[in-house]
Amino acid sequence: MTDCIFCKIASGEIPADVVFKDEQITAFRDIKPAAKVHILVIPNDHIESMQQVTKGDADLLGHLFHSVKVIAAEQGIADEGYRLIINTGPNANQVVKHLHVHILGGNRLIYPMG
Ligand code: 5GP
Ligand code: ZN
Repeated sequence: MTDCIFCKIASGEIPADVVFKDEQITAFRDIKPAAKVHILVIPNDHIESMQQVTKGDADLLGHLFHSVKVIAAEQGIADEGYRLIINTGPNANQVVKHLHVHILGGNRLIYPMG
């Protein structure tokens, strides 16, 4: 996707504070953090949202979620706990149309939201 901001972050065309990267996924700090630690984890290849996920993405998403655990530990938020959010579609206010998992932690989080 040529005009997708997260595709451009994954390719390195747009700079980001990247905390983890491999051939399949990129993790970087959210530009407007909603918690002390706020990281976004994305597949490098464009998937618009959870609704575009297919069975063929199983290995990719398994790797992504395993990496979430590793990143949370690396960021020092695993023991105290953290929250994952995947906004999907208009009712969830998904702004960036490239699948991303928010990792929020480092402080006590309010729940439920909106
Ligand atoms: P959504 O509402 O789509 O789930 O959240 C998109 C998130 O991406 C927001 O938390 C927003 O702050 C973040 N974001 C949007 N543009 C950029 C950017 O250019 N760089 C970074 N690091 N985060 C971004
Ligand atoms: Zn994209």
